[in-house]
Amino acid sequence: MSVRNVAIIGLGLLGGSIGLAVKEHAPQITTTGYDRDPDVRAKAAELGLAGTICDSAQEAVREADLVVLCVPVGAMEEAARELAGHLKDGAIISDVGSSKQSVAEALTRALPGHTIIPAHPVAGTEQSGPDAGFASLFTNRWCILTPPEGANEAAIASLSEFWSALGANVELMDAEHHDLVLAVTSHIPHLIAFTIVGTASDLEEVTRSEVIKYSAGGFRDFTRIAASDPVMWRDVFLSNKGAVLEMLGRFTEDLTALQRAIRSGDGETLHELFSRTRTIRRAVIEEGQDDDRPDFGREDHL
Ligand code: NAP
Repeated sequence: MSVRNVAIIGLGLLGGSIGLAVKEHAPQITTTGYDRDPDVRAKAAELGLAGTICDSAQEAVREADLVVLCVPVGAMEEAARELAGHLKDGAIISDVGSSKQSVAEALTRALPGHTIIPAHPVAGTEQSGPDAGFASLFTNRWCILTPPEGANEAAIASLSEFWSALGANVELMDAEHHDLVLAVTSHIPHLIAFTIVGTASDLEEVTRSEVIKYSAGGFRDFTRIAASDPVMWRDVFLSNKGAVLEMLGRFTEDLTALQRAIRSGDGETLHELFSRTRTIRRAVIEEGQDDDRPDFGREDHL
């Protein structure tokens, strides 16, 4: 069954982008939207992020055959609880949360007996809020669905069709594996960026103004990631604790090995690693997941 009415709960970067992407790529689908913040609802109405902006979550989901929760991971359970008793029969409940095992558990606790197919579009920016959304956010990005065992096949097919219509490539994955993969491709890189930017701003022998002035040496690329939404990222680390700690253990061992190579003047180890990492960058570009111009196409690159 194709999705005809979608309710978007949470109208920030992800929710707003879904609304705009539906309008652009699948205009036959009607959208309703709700956010708990009245200012966000007003902004969403002004920007046309959904066809109808509702003043309650219950009203937004009443006619929906797909509900997509686009709130921070830590708010998923509360947002889902508000929907209990107001959903249409057979409605698919999904989300866009960055970690999947804990969200699946939260949604199942909040809405037992409903068709729950968690999802994670691996697409985003460091911006948040209703102004940050744009229609092409999901174009040629992956959307990972993590249906629980025995999930309704027709619901999985409808959700896959929905994300494909928004321009995404869809993949199915086990929630536990998703959390491990995303720990290394997204969560740890964010943790490293938060750390390096924090460390640089706490130094005493290098001034803050020097850090900012000479940031084009590499630091500024970390500041983009480290500017990401604090609530969202607090929730990601608290909800994907196991996988993040496991990957962080591996990362710390590798960092220690590099420390040893630098201390002992082992240039061969450094050169071998840096050559391998360069090929990964090439592969990311070949897959169409980034811009191949030097320094991301900035005009003033060094
Ligand atoms: P965002 O721009 O901050 O938007 C989230 C919105 O949800 C805010 O307006 C927030 O309002 C609202 N909200 C919070 N609790 C709510 C509730 N109970 N009911 C209704 N609305 C509620 O965040 P985002 O970047 O779109 O992220 C949303 C989700 O997408 C997160 O789960 C995140 O893990 C996931 N995700 C993000 C990215 C990314 O790059 N940003 C990428 C992929 C997936 P308040 O401000 O009042 O709390």
